[in-house]
Amino acid sequence: MGAPASRPRRHPVFREHVLDLKSIIRAIPDHPAPGIVFRDITTLMRDPKAFAHSVDLLAEAFKAQEVDKVAGIEARGFIFGAALADRLGAGFVPVRKLGKLPAATLRRSYTLEYGEDTLEMHDDAVADGERVLLVDDLIATGGTALAAAELVEEAGGALVACAFVIDLPALGGAERLRARGHDVLSLMHFEGE
Ligand code: AMP
Repeated sequence: MGAPASRPRRHPVFREHVLDLKSIIRAIPDHPAPGIVFRDITTLMRDPKAFAHSVDLLAEAFKAQEVDKVAGIEARGFIFGAALADRLGAGFVPVRKLGKLPAATLRRSYTLEYGEDTLEMHDDAVADGERVLLVDDLIATGGTALAAAELVEEAGGALVACAFVIDLPALGGAERLRARGHDVLSLMHFEGE
């Protein structure tokens, strides 16, 4: 018997591969501060098969969504975002830390654990109504992604979804994005392991 029609949309393509990719991510305890487990994706990126596979999985999930632009968040979001844009036949838009972009920008400040940070995007990077996919390596509290999503929308872009390699669900970021009506997709989750 098939699945009921009302079943929520899933991304089944990820299910069978999650463990493979997960085991390649390096955990660095107490970096950059005591109590934080840093999830180091450089061990995934340096492995040609794992890197290609992670980009394949993301491309597979969004290939039917007519993405015009992939917006990648500095800096690790550039790496996955640019590769994904190429696979999707989309353009790439950098969302950068304050002061890096040369032309006129839109800006959004957001709260960090200690203090504030600001993201910028060129004000002409996204045309009105363009379909934009937001990409970063990891979502934790969601402050970064939410600020970037607001930039895309302020520019007139239609946010297709927010995609991450890693989600740390305990920190609630994906839920925050979903509460704003955004579709969120992550290749893997770490829940305290
Ligand atoms: P947040 O705004 O809290 O969702 O933080 C997301 C940003 O911080 C991403 O750009 C991540 O690269 C980085 N980040 C936050 N927590 C971690 C972590 N535990 N391991 C690696 N990167 C992290």
